Amino acid sequence: MNHRVYIGIGSNLGDRERNLFAAVGALRRMDTVAVRRCSSIYESAPVGPPQPRFLNAVVEVDTALPPLRLLSCLKQIEADLGRVRRKRWGPREIDLDILLWVGEVIAEPQLQVPHLELHKRRFALEPLCELAPDVEHPVTGERMCELLQRLAPQDCVKCAGPDSLFVADAD
Ligand code: AMP
Repeated sequence: MNHRVYIGIGSNLGDRERNLFAAVGALRRMDTVAVRRCSSIYESAPVGPPQPRFLNAVVEVDTALPPLRLLSCLKQIEADLGRVRRKRWGPREIDLDILLWVGEVIAEPQLQVPHLELHKRRFALEPLCELAPDVEHPVTGERMCELLQRLAPQDCVKCAGPDSLFVADAD
């Protein structure tokens, strides 16, 4: 059975836009994941220590994979795209997070979904709301657009349209 899942992608090292393209390309090449849509690209201020600004987007996928299998595929994509593990909250070539698994709560030691920071982060909620404004948080029942409305202003600006990540399958 297929599940609808929203994956956040981010990059603040190297050619950030190319890194996002490459992540979407890698997801599209998986035969266990169907990429349906991509959000616009946003540029946002980093959370944590001083470091370059991030580009972020959200990808909507369908998959029959169990959550931990999807997580390990995402980690493999990060490794394949040259992510070097540095300190927590540090800069990264590419980051793939499972933001939301529609209708499910996942509470494993290595995976919490909805992502624990989702409701605090405009760079995740803003692109997510382009794709899934009416999807409900599986714990609180609030719609994603309601979570976004409650958020204080944060430095997060749209910098490329919704088609920009989907048209090209970068290698
Ligand atoms: P990061 O530094 O963002 O790559 O995340 C580090 C770790 O967070 C990963 O190795 C995962 O085990 C864990 N993690 C917990 N919840 C999630 C989630 N929703 N999506 C991705 N990683 C998660």
